[in-house]
Amino acid sequence: MGKILILFLFINVCGFAQFEILKEVLKTGDELNKVLLDFTRLTDEEENQIGEGLDKKIIAGKAGFTTNKYDVKAVFTKIKKHVTRTKINYRFALVKDPDVNAYAVAGGNVYINSGLIDFISSEEELAFVIAHEIAHNELKHCISAIQYQVRASQVNPLLGDVIGIAYSIYRLPFSKDQEFAADELAVKLLKKAGYSKNGGIEFFRKLEKLEEKYGQDKRDGLNDFISSHPLSKQRRERIEKM
Ligand SMILES: [Zn+2]
Repeated sequence: MGKILILFLFINVCGFAQFEILKEVLKTGDELNKVLLDFTRLTDEEENQIGEGLDKKIIAGKAGFTTNKYDVKAVFTKIKKHVTRTKINYRFALVKDPDVNAYAVAGGNVYINSGLIDFISSEEELAFVIAHEIAHNELKHCISAIQYQVRASQVNPLLGDVIGIAYSIYRLPFSKDQEFAADELAVKLLKKAGYSKNGGIEFFRKLEKLEEKYGQDKRDGLNDFISSHPLSKQRRERIEKM
């Protein structure tokens, strides 16, 4: 952890204003993203350590669950075989939460809600969701969000709390471009793992109906699928063309 602490010699108090600034920064696209990633250059090992700490904070107070509906472990393992960031500690946790959602955080952790397991109706849909979440970490979307936030904080020669920073932003939505990129990579991962892209198409088709029910304003930032942008319809149509 020592190297990370040296790397993050910043102090951060994440207020609402910073959230808003960060949201704007995230919209500016991948070019800046690459520049900032180069600036901090975290190793996969360091990212895993951030993920460990983050996992403890996210899981605290949350109940897990087990399911017989699908062999989540088997599906996850099949897809994980085809990652390129082989040193990242890809794993999943099942969380008891009725919200139809799954999300990924830095270090490879994927959280799958009981609401999502109830909502899907095939192993192919589950495989798409898992591939999409893994793709966010393959593309470094999660760790770069943390790095943005560290950079957005005022530089201060005091010991910073990188896990605290990571926790303060894990609920922020990804950008539209990041969602499209994760869908695209998910389809590639699915093919390699022996699944068709139909799981993604079916999943978004059902979400389109759910979106109508949720309405534009009631969406949770944490929700990786029912977010204000891009809409399920757009995402489905893109996958159909892939
Ligand atoms: Zn996503």
